[in-house]
Amino acid sequence: MRETGRFAPSPTGPLHAGSLVAALASWLDVRARGPKARWLVRIEDADTERCLPGMGEHILQQLADCGLLPDEAPVWQTQRTARYEAALARLQALGLAYPCGCSRKDIDEALARLGRPHTRHGERVYPGTCRGGLHGKPARAWRFATEKFESAQPALASGELCWTDRRLGRQCQDVGREVGDFVLRRADGPWAYQLAVVVDDAEQGVTDVVRGEDLADNTARQILLQRALGLPTPSYLHTPLVRGADGDKLSKQNGATAIDTATPEAALAALDAAARVLGLRASAAASCAPALAGWVPEWRDLYNSRP
Ligand code: GLU
Repeated sequence: MRETGRFAPSPTGPLHAGSLVAALASWLDVRARGPKARWLVRIEDADTERCLPGMGEHILQQLADCGLLPDEAPVWQTQRTARYEAALARLQALGLAYPCGCSRKDIDEALARLGRPHTRHGERVYPGTCRGGLHGKPARAWRFATEKFESAQPALASGELCWTDRRLGRQCQDVGREVGDFVLRRADGPWAYQLAVVVDDAEQGVTDVVRGEDLADNTARQILLQRALGLPTPSYLHTPLVRGADGDKLSKQNGATAIDTATPEAALAALDAAARVLGLRASAAASCAPALAGWVPEWRDLYNSRP
């Protein structure tokens, strides 16, 4: 299969220092594989409520300003919903997707009754309240039957799903215990990131996922869905995060301002900063294209030799 990487931004805001790191890393990873490898861009606008109009086009322009041009026309998740429908129908037919009528409040109350901690990294661990049926409530979401799937997989007998990240090494997560039956689609329409990303990566033939470390925690869920749908699992590399002034992950609250790519000098400075986060040397090149070309062999030495 043709080696394929991708950058998959959500158009919820312009590219910032952190997202440019993921874009640059995924581009370098593809270029380090030689001329036949493909770099794709997918605009992840499946969660329509969080997306801003015109932002996908703006991000593509910012990437182009930095010399990061996809090898094929970018794809937009909102144009691919039939594929997500088909995947959900498949999971439903396998008995691995079920409707849930619980609100956040219902889930909180159930967790309190069970005496379970409310959050894992600030998220609720779904307590399985609708596993046995909707109890007359209208459906609010479709959920993946995580434990049911895990218990049918001999390789998951210990409960933990383990995978090897090219930078972080071996990672393990008990999705049933640490996340629970996660959402595939909300009843009001939007597709959940987990389902859309798995369907798209497989359908676009993505062999190598390179993205920010903040997303590493989603990987076990995505591998479960790949297995349930009979799809291949790509290799994963999660890149270092850009920290805000407070040492936390960069966010709009602590200084994740849009990168400036309005002039070639500004675009080169933004790329240089992203390269440094990845452990690459500052470039002496005068513009983006030679700077990018110069980082390719360095990337190969730094990242391709890891597990
Ligand atoms: N759309 C996701 C984001 O911008 C990234 C998805 C991915 O790379 O898997 O956070």
